[in-house]
Amino acid sequence: GQPVLAVVGRPNVGKSTLVNRILGRREAVVQDVPGVTRDRVAYDAYWGGRRFTLVDTGGWEPDATGLQASVAAQAELAMQTADAVLLVIDATVGATATDEAVSKVLRRSKKPVLLAANKVDDDRLLADTASLWSLGLGEPHPVSALHGRSSGDLLDAILKAL
Ligand code: GDP
Ligand code: MG
Repeated sequence: GQPVLAVVGRPNVGKSTLVNRILGRREAVVQDVPGVTRDRVAYDAYWGGRRFTLVDTGGWEPDATGLQASVAAQAELAMQTADAVLLVIDATVGATATDEAVSKVLRRSKKPVLLAANKVDDDRLLADTASLWSLGLGEPHPVSALHGRSSGDLLDAILKAL
């Protein structure tokens, strides 16, 4: 079958908005309330002449095990089932303890892991995204899923990884 890219990250960082941006249509559920996308939803994506499956994850709400354990479990699942993983960070917040925990999980991945710094709606946030190199996942790709900024560069990197 076609290659699978799993999109992971904390609630409300803009995973579903980014998925919609990549799909070029509104399908993934975007909500102002964190943790609304239930479980995992797969979509057929097409970019640069290539077809791949996009898996939007949600359900990272803190349950009995807490947010970090739930995030780590989603990351493990993504590593096992996808061909590449995209970790989305909210650049307006920066790397949180949960982002660092999930990065630690993803650094063990034998599959490619890409890092998107989302919500970079204007240049003022660009300089801050360099600090995300510290997550040990390689180059942070600044994007604004809402406005479409630089998502082409991220997509090119994704296609190289798939
Ligand atoms: P998810 O929980 O990670 O799937 O996040 P959503 O895609 O549901 O988005 C959560 C909130 O962040 C929504 O209010 C979005 O409109 C907002 N959002 C997503 N991407 C961006 C962005 O690039 N810039 C800004 N300013 N807001 C964004
Ligand atoms: Mg979502």
